[in-house]
Amino acid sequence: MAKDLKQYETKEAITPDGVSVQLFVNTGLMIDVVRGVQRGAQGVGLYRSEIPFMLRERFPGEEEQRAIYRQQLSHFANKPVVMRTLDIGADKDLPYFSIEEENSALGWRGIRFTLDHPEIFSAQIRAMLKASIGLNNLHILLPMVTTVSEVEEVLYLLERDWIAVQEEEQVKITKPKIGIMVEVPSVLLQIDEFAELVDFFSVGSNDLTQYLLAVDRNNPHVASVYSHFHPSILRALTRLVKECHKYQKPVSICGEMAGDPLSAILLMAMGFNTLSMSSSNILRVRKAICHVPMTDAQKLLDDVMKMNNPLIVKSWLEYYFKTHGLADMVKSNRLVTV
Ligand code: PEP
Ligand code: MG
Repeated sequence: MAKDLKQYETKEAITPDGVSVQLFVNTGLMIDVVRGVQRGAQGVGLYRSEIPFMLRERFPGEEEQRAIYRQQLSHFANKPVVMRTLDIGADKDLPYFSIEEENSALGWRGIRFTLDHPEIFSAQIRAMLKASIGLNNLHILLPMVTTVSEVEEVLYLLERDWIAVQEEEQVKITKPKIGIMVEVPSVLLQIDEFAELVDFFSVGSNDLTQYLLAVDRNNPHVASVYSHFHPSILRALTRLVKECHKYQKPVSICGEMAGDPLSAILLMAMGFNTLSMSSSNILRVRKAICHVPMTDAQKLLDDVMKMNNPLIVKSWLEYYFKTHGLADMVKSNRLVTV
């Protein structure tokens, strides 16, 4: 890791004009947790629960899952940990449960799959609830939500499991806060209705970009079309933050867009005060926040909201970074791993 970045391990993410932003880490394996703690993450914004499932040869049982989740929750005791329920399908394949589909990105994935397998869903929820006993920092996040009825069904299952686990364990368990991923564009247009059911929203910009722009996130032939600097993404997110604030619901972002210093600055200006990212990006984003005043970030956002071309948006941000001592953050298109 560059020496210059190391000093940001112990700094807070506060802009020169005093605006504080919370930086959370995305995890899947314990190494992400360890690095997240070391780099000063203030919580886990996305635990990808499918990762331990992908590394096994069979579905892990309830007790096995409980032990895995407990490790994640206890390393961030007293801090929020957002655990996403199983998000398999499309690019996330289980070696022991193959799903063959013509159009898998639009297929049986995320909450669509788990609601069709309530026994898998329930084992996971029960394991999460048991793992949270005495820690009380569990938040549950639902992936690939498209329709209000999916959330209603989940809330029913969750209530049932919450009551049952407390009876079995003879212990009171704090009810976790429930949130949904904003990654299917339909959700953007129904925030009012979802806000009646859930406690928080978290933007999955990787899939939201894929679905809003109709571009496969993993296809190199269309990689140039896949950009989180596309004006429609910026406009959608700006409106989303306003909507969430209107209904007084916290909204954060956990896709790659939060871990790119150029876009992180725009997100901060939009009003996202929690950004969650891979541990490899935390220090770079913290450095950017410590250097860019909110007044500049707001001016940049105003500028780019008038632009119609993602490449020009990106160049405009790069120009600002290069002329404000942050040239090292714009060297390459891809995020550097440290
Ligand atoms: C996303 O879609 O932005 C996201 C965070 O989830 P994943 O990358 O795991 O699909
Ligand atoms: Mg996603």
